[in-house]
Amino acid sequence: MDTKAFKRSLQQSENYHRKGFGHEAEVANVMQTAYQSTLIQQIRDNNYKLERNGVTIRLAEAFGFCWGVERAVAIAYETRQHFPTERIWITNEIIHNPSVNQHLRDMEVGFIAVDKGQKDFSVVDRGDVVILPAFGASVPEMQLLNDKGCKIVDTTCPWVSKVWNSVEKHKKRDCTSIIHGKYSHEETIATSSFADKYLVVLNLEQAEYVSNYIINGGDRDEFLLKFSKAYSDGFDPDRDLERVGIANQTTMLKSETEQIGKLLERTMMRKFGPDKLNEHFLSFNTICDATQERQDAMLSLVDEKLDLMLVIGGFNSSNTTHLQEIAVDRTIPSYHIDCAERILPGNRIEHKPLGGDLVIAEGWLPAGKIVVGVTSGASTPDKVVEDAIERIFEMKTVAVV
Ligand code: SF4
Repeated sequence: MDTKAFKRSLQQSENYHRKGFGHEAEVANVMQTAYQSTLIQQIRDNNYKLERNGVTIRLAEAFGFCWGVERAVAIAYETRQHFPTERIWITNEIIHNPSVNQHLRDMEVGFIAVDKGQKDFSVVDRGDVVILPAFGASVPEMQLLNDKGCKIVDTTCPWVSKVWNSVEKHKKRDCTSIIHGKYSHEETIATSSFADKYLVVLNLEQAEYVSNYIINGGDRDEFLLKFSKAYSDGFDPDRDLERVGIANQTTMLKSETEQIGKLLERTMMRKFGPDKLNEHFLSFNTICDATQERQDAMLSLVDEKLDLMLVIGGFNSSNTTHLQEIAVDRTIPSYHIDCAERILPGNRIEHKPLGGDLVIAEGWLPAGKIVVGVTSGASTPDKVVEDAIERIFEMKTVAVV
C-alpha cells in the first residue's frame, strides 16, 4: 500500500486536525493547576536540590513532561473545548500516565477498549471525534477511522513522524527497516505499519544475532522463531537482510540505538564492502532530544552519592523503564512508582522492580540523613513528582528515625 499517499490525502481531509483549535488560553489554566508545581520550580531554582526533615532531594536536571507530551495533552483538552457535545474517543492512553488519563475520563473522553490485543472500534460512529495519541496510530487504524467518517485529531509527536518519514525512505530504497523497539509497543506498531518489510530488534543482543546471520548465515527457522511477531508478513532473513535501514522507537535507550546503528553499519560494510555501503545501509538521526536529555541527566545524577532513587512514571512507559534501568545498572536501590499514592504509611512503598511485578517494600527509607535522587519519565506531570516528594518528607518525619 502507498502509505505516503494515504497520509497525504488524510492530511488534506477536512475531518483531519493536527494542531490545536485556538483554545490555548482556556486550557492553560487546567494545564497549570493540574500539571505544574511550585515546589518543583523551587527545587529547579535551587540548583535541583532541596533539603528538609533530614532528606536531601536531588532532582535530575531534565525530567518529566516533554514538549511532545505537553502538546498532545493540551490538544486533547482543546478538543473537548472545541467539540463540547460530540462523543470523543481516544485510540489509546494519550500518554502513559494514569493521572492524565483519569483527567481525560473525567472530561468524558472514552478510551477504545482492547480485547485480546485487538482494539474494539465498534463503539465509534460517523461524526465522532477520535484523538490519536502522542506516540501515533497505525495506518490501518487511521484508515478505519477515516472510512467511518470520524473527525481525527492527530496529536502524534513530530519526532515520531520523523521516524515514519525515515521508514518511508527505507521503503523507497527497497530496504528492510530494522526497528530498535518493542514489537508490541504502540509506537512501534504504528512505525512498522509504514514499512514494507521490517524486523524489530529489542536490544543489542538481538541486533548481534542479526548481524551474525547477515555475515555467516544460519538457521532460518531458528531466526524466525526467535523474532516471531517481530517481523513483517512474508519476511525472509535469507532474502530481506541485503539492504537495511535503521529506525527506532523514540523512547529507547539512546546509547543502545546508536550502538545498534553502528553495528549494522559495520556489518553491511563487512559483507558488501565500504564502497557499496550506501546501497545496503540507510540511517537518519531520529533519536528524540527529550529522551536523550532525560537519559543524560539521569547518567549524571547516578554519578552522585545517592542512598536511593525514585523513578516516577507509568509502568508501561518505555522511557521511564529505561531511566530505572540506568539506576539498576549502577546498583542504586531504585523504586519505580506511577503515582505518589504508592508511597504508603509505615515506611512502605509499592513499586515495580525492573522486569517484575508490583511488590511492597518495607523500610525503604533508611534511618538518618539521606539523599534521594528523583526523576520522572516524559509523560509525568511535575505535580505528580511534587506529591511524591512531599510524601517522602512526610514519611521521614513520621515513620523513620
Ligand atoms: S518523548 Fe520525544 S518523541 Fe516522545 S512525545 Fe516526547 S518529544 Fe515526542
